[in-house]
Amino acid sequence: MLEINGNLGEAGGQIVRSSLTLSMLTQTPFRMINVRAGRKPTGLKKQHQTAVSAAARVCNACVTGNSLGSGTFTFEPNAIQSGTYRFDIGTAGSTTLIMQTLLPALMFADGTFEIEVTGGTHNPWAPTFDFLQKAYQPIVRQMGGDVRLDISRIGFYPKGGGQISADVQPAESWKPLDLVKRGKEVSRVVRPLVAKLPLHIAERECRTIETTDGWKKAKYRVEENNNSFSPGNVVTIELSFEKITEVFTALGKQGTPAQKVAKTALRAATEYLESEAVVGDYLADQLMLPMAIAADKFGHTYRYRTHAPSDHSTTHAALIGQFLDVEVDMQPQGENDYVFSIHRS
Ligand code: ATP
Repeated sequence: MLEINGNLGEAGGQIVRSSLTLSMLTQTPFRMINVRAGRKPTGLKKQHQTAVSAAARVCNACVTGNSLGSGTFTFEPNAIQSGTYRFDIGTAGSTTLIMQTLLPALMFADGTFEIEVTGGTHNPWAPTFDFLQKAYQPIVRQMGGDVRLDISRIGFYPKGGGQISADVQPAESWKPLDLVKRGKEVSRVVRPLVAKLPLHIAERECRTIETTDGWKKAKYRVEENNNSFSPGNVVTIELSFEKITEVFTALGKQGTPAQKVAKTALRAATEYLESEAVVGDYLADQLMLPMAIAADKFGHTYRYRTHAPSDHSTTHAALIGQFLDVEVDMQPQGENDYVFSIHRS
């Protein structure tokens, strides 16, 4: 059984999720020790426990140690079974991170899958649903993956209760991808959303961005969505280019002025715009897994230009090498300017 030290690199939940994906896909049993050793408290949280049990359901895995706070667990997968699956995190834990555990394995499996996950859809420190749908999904589809994501209810902390779904069909063929130039800017959309909160919050967020140099011509779409259990606010900035759409988000918090929320999203978007990066930091660590799987299976090479590798990216690259015959080269081009290349070793 493969032994994985959860203390690797940034030592958080991503090692847990990506190990599950790679184990299901390659049918490699593993034992993880020092789970989330870099976090306080250490061990499995509800969200990670759900990821373990969701992965176990789709491949009928034999699991030990999947309890709250557990520092060690084992996972022995069987073949992935197509079908309809529903998972409820039971808290506002991130639904998108559960999707990100399952999708890369299911996209490469035979058969069709309907996956529904209930919990938080717009959480701090995780991709929001909009990020998954507008930034992650199109790249995966360009690679050849047949995945469609949808949302039926938005879910904010503390009640969660949001619902997202994925329809996964077998891919016809997988293609290599070279994302070293963005191409021309196609659109710039700013979407502040409020759920069960006054609309003027979203309007103030719009004004903050609109009055910033260079942002007057962006499209502004204020959204009110009261189909949510808890109140919430999120500012989403979508930057579309010929080759890519990148998404930058900031979540409102009680006591944080709307202007500050807007500026947080704006800062991330501006940093991206002022750089040569095609793929932003978050997408850079998240694309590595589907690309590494396609590289391993079909011998394709994937390249993308991004910023200096985050801890998530370096950790991901090291973990991938434990399961797949794949290398991730991170070649510096200049200051905070890198090209990642993912290919067979
Ligand atoms: P922890 O172990 O720290 O409690 P976790 O299991 O919630 O963590 P991490 O290991 O930190 O999660 O992984 C978080 C994931 O969410 C990473 O893949 C990261 O790219 C992604 N992420 C975080 N913030 C954003 C954001 N603003 N937009 C898109 N993706 C994000």
